[in-house]
Amino acid sequence: MSKEENKILNEAALLPDTPVALAACDTYDEERIFSLLVRCAEAASVFPSGLAGKKVVIKPNFVMKREPDAAATVHPAVLRATIRWLSSLGAEKIIVAESPGGPYTAARLRGVYTACGATDACSGLDAALNYDVGYSEAHYPEGQRARVFDVINPILEADVVVDLCKLKTHTLTQLSGAIKNLFGVIPGIVKFEMHSRYPDYNDFSAMLNDLCAFICSTREFVAITDAIVGMEGNGPTGGSPRKIGALLMSQNPFASDAVAARLIGIEGSVIMIEDAKSRGYCYTEPKLQHIVGIDGATPDALRVPDFAKPETRGNFIFKADNIIGRELYGWFRPRPLINYTACLGCGECAASCPAKTIVMMEKDKAQKREKSAKHARPQKIPVIFRDKCINCFCCQELCPHRAVKIKKNPLSRLLIG
Ligand code: SF4
Ligand code: SF4
Repeated sequence: MSKEENKILNEAALLPDTPVALAACDTYDEERIFSLLVRCAEAASVFPSGLAGKKVVIKPNFVMKREPDAAATVHPAVLRATIRWLSSLGAEKIIVAESPGGPYTAARLRGVYTACGATDACSGLDAALNYDVGYSEAHYPEGQRARVFDVINPILEADVVVDLCKLKTHTLTQLSGAIKNLFGVIPGIVKFEMHSRYPDYNDFSAMLNDLCAFICSTREFVAITDAIVGMEGNGPTGGSPRKIGALLMSQNPFASDAVAARLIGIEGSVIMIEDAKSRGYCYTEPKLQHIVGIDGATPDALRVPDFAKPETRGNFIFKADNIIGRELYGWFRPRPLINYTACLGCGECAASCPAKTIVMMEKDKAQKREKSAKHARPQKIPVIFRDKCINCFCCQELCPHRAVKIKKNPLSRLLIG
């Protein structure tokens, strides 16, 4: 795609005053969600002219095979209500397209769509699940940290992208919402390459913002956040479901995430949002025009003050542009740790590790490096060679058996909690 083709089609995506509609919603009742989507769209001026003749692609957060109640993925009732709302606006074609963690294959997509409830959610509705595993190189010369991305074909071919995300904590970026969900437009294991290319989380966050800015500004766009039940603790897959009771909608994913971060009490500690503020994409202090509350909903009323933060929280304070900051970070940083009693030896963590620092080893050899490996049941188990670890936590995110834990430095636990 040439620079000329990157026309700004959604200016609102990068304007700090773009409103975020916020509604209280404590149920996965499809009718209730549908009516709130209609009202949020009206309040936030989303697609006022309808979508007649448009090809719409929904990018849901279906990060991995997880049942809807685990709260790692968008609930199928929200997906169904969204498809119905888009149909009511006259969309000509609706495609649901995700690129989850791991290899980008039709078989993997089928498994993920089924486990997450998307296959059932689409039945009887005018929407198709994407199985085209092609992707193309896209250029975004306006990017501040990253300008070239591999992006799955349906997203590049869409007139309209619907960023259908889940509100979760995230061990690397602290927040998984509208911005982070768009990392899933990068095909399968190319995501691991991006972690290798941007091992510093400041760079990684800036890259995510470039990717998000590219997708949301160069086509018609809306971000919808399923914050009815979110994930707290070590998200985006290893945490616990927690009721929040909210739905958000905006044409600006950065502003939407800023409101979402307030709901779960992590405003100020999400580098993606701080970076978006410095770029002028997002308000710095919310004013009346920024948040449109449906039936008087406010972030303060919906806030969950004791929402559990990831165990990696606070480790970023030691990151600095000098040798002392880097040394302190290296010393204090939390690390991934295999729980050998839960590990089933599937090898997914080793396959997902961008730094190739996880090696599957025979149990007796592994025991020489990791004493706790003696508790393992499989004969071949993973061992992390920590010197090369870049702390991306892909292993923790993608372990299907929740067997990768986060180990905090004891001093850091004392200082930061
Ligand atoms: S830690 Fe998880 S992903 Fe890695 S081998 Fe064990 S079960 Fe599989
Ligand atoms: S061991 Fe885990 S946290 Fe470390 S680089 Fe590999 S995937 Fe990332």
